[in-house]
Amino acid sequence: MNSTRHEHPKLNINDIVVLGVPFDGNSSYAKGPAFAPFKIREALYCHSSNLWTENLLDLGTTSGWHNGSDIKFSDEKKAFAQIEYEIENLLKRNSRIITLGGDHSITLPVVRAYSRAYRKLNILHLDAHPDLYDELDGNRYSHACPFARIMEENLAARLVQVGIRTLTGHQHEQAQRFGVEQIDMKNITLAKRLSFDGPIYLSIDMDCLDPAYAPGVSHYEPGGMCTRDVLELIQNLKGNLVGADIVEYNPERDLNGMTGMVASKLLKEVIGRMLEEK
Ligand code: MN
Ligand code: MN
Repeated sequence: MNSTRHEHPKLNINDIVVLGVPFDGNSSYAKGPAFAPFKIREALYCHSSNLWTENLLDLGTTSGWHNGSDIKFSDEKKAFAQIEYEIENLLKRNSRIITLGGDHSITLPVVRAYSRAYRKLNILHLDAHPDLYDELDGNRYSHACPFARIMEENLAARLVQVGIRTLTGHQHEQAQRFGVEQIDMKNITLAKRLSFDGPIYLSIDMDCLDPAYAPGVSHYEPGGMCTRDVLELIQNLKGNLVGADIVEYNPERDLNGMTGMVASKLLKEVIGRMLEEK
């Protein structure tokens, strides 16, 4: 029932919509994440696997989620406004959105809309990078900057970053200035104790994973999480998960589509986790 896409699916309260955001205009190093939504959906329905979650929900027959459409961008300069508008419209229909990026810059307009819909939004951010630069290469909306803007605009009550292993002096100062909590990679076991009060938005940058598990990313940063670490975080996360994104998958750098399968596995488990708490 979910294998066809609908521009305007009939939505019930708390339904999950998977929305593609094929945008990589703010990538600093390599383009490619714009092709990710198509590739992740293709992997999700690949007959080499099935649509069951590990907790035995069959996403092929379970209602409550929709394989939605991709945003169609006409003008790159208006992309953020368009993303925010689409997310806001879906939130007004009481749905929960899983966004498939796209580079990480898209999280800013998504969270702008979410912060209006949910008071005291918590953000759990999985990434090799803190993405807290004030600017990168003169671009304040670079994929290296979204969490600096999110904190400046007071869009999150709490930002917890997990898997960090590229901290610089500047970004450490930014984290302290904004009160960002960081569980860096060398202390990753602490992530098992995480819990949140109130709504949680989960942002998954595929490079949180070690490049051995997810080579289809623009920035290889060894020493990262294994796929099972990320799955455990998703499955054991305590709190009310109201939205998520999976960003920075770069199919142009992938090997045999293996990172696409990892992204679709994470997508499956995020959908399952959100359906279970409905
Ligand atoms: Mn990132
Ligand atoms: Mn990253």
